[in-house]
Amino acid sequence: MNLILMGLPGAGKGTQAEKINEKYNIPHISTGDMFRLAIKEGTDLGKKAKEYMDQGELVPDEVTIGIVRERLNKDDCKNGFLLDGFPRTINQAEALQDLLQDMNETIDYVLHVDVPEEKLVERLTGRRICPTCGATYHVVYNPPKEDGICDKDGSQLIQRDDDKADTVKKRLSVNIEQTKPLLDFYEDKGYLVTVDGNQDIDQVFRDIQSKIEK
Ligand SMILES: [Zn+2]
Repeated sequence: MNLILMGLPGAGKGTQAEKINEKYNIPHISTGDMFRLAIKEGTDLGKKAKEYMDQGELVPDEVTIGIVRERLNKDDCKNGFLLDGFPRTINQAEALQDLLQDMNETIDYVLHVDVPEEKLVERLTGRRICPTCGATYHVVYNPPKEDGICDKDGSQLIQRDDDKADTVKKRLSVNIEQTKPLLDFYEDKGYLVTVDGNQDIDQVFRDIQSKIEK
């Protein structure tokens, strides 16, 4: 089964990816992992990607697509794959279509884990961290016993700048703008399956299963 996983930051993609990986025995391929592997293996494309990354530049699509091609041709993808974080643009999505066609493969489903923006803001801004031991809490979903205080060492919990409302909202709106054309692209192709991500983690996974096992 060839899957693409889509969803905004905080939608719970990582958790669902783990469950899909366990249940269907297909590798969870995130863009970051894919680049790290190519660089570690020292492939020509990995070396090229590293040059761009070392200079703080965006890796060009032709290099990225080549790395995707190498990754999807590995043995562990013989049952399929779960792509996460790729494609990011229409150009990449079209290149992926061509690549899969070359491999005599096709995408089965594009899973969109959908969570309303205000819920994502709540999830992302509620995170609190202990500066002493690194423990993480959430004001709603995983609160400390005493408000603002670490259970383990009594330190005052902090909110990272990345988790502050303005930063979170900005990050989400950039992501929404980037994702929208891709969702439309896959909807037109008939691959898009939307799952309500604003539910209990296990219920989200049951919904994914019922949609992809049809
Ligand atoms: Zn602590």
